[in-house]
Amino acid sequence: MPTYDDQNIFAKILRGEIPNDTVYENDHALAFRDIRPQAPVHVLIIPKGPYVDFAHFAAEASEAEIIGWMRAIAEVCKMEGVEADGFRAISNAGVNGVQEVPHLHVHILGGRPLGRMLQP
Ligand code: 5GP
Repeated sequence: MPTYDDQNIFAKILRGEIPNDTVYENDHALAFRDIRPQAPVHVLIIPKGPYVDFAHFAAEASEAEIIGWMRAIAEVCKMEGVEADGFRAISNAGVNGVQEVPHLHVHILGGRPLGRMLQP
């Protein structure tokens, strides 16, 4: 499993060292607006625990953490009003996924037609 770098930017947000525009929070997850939004709705949902990516989280998080993160994603979609017209959930991992911040996050994007997922 990967080693977690506790100096990554989302770890600093979780510790309150860097401000964020919080949308939703529960015991296990924090949701906040992306600083460089790619769509009218662009929210990042992160677990509060030290997990690098989806595979790390799925392997090592407790059931309560997994449920808390998943429910936070669903709650954000409801709160941001993207359920009816649809949205995209993306979790980038590693080099090929071009993951910029090494703390698990899902991007929720919506509020406009997003086009096809990948360019050919
Ligand atoms: P990744 O490429 O790792 O999937 O996405 C990381 C995301 O984090 C990017 O969309 C980037 O705009 C966002 N981001 C980077 N630094 C900050 C920050 O300090 N605050 C917020 N709210 N978002 C950030």
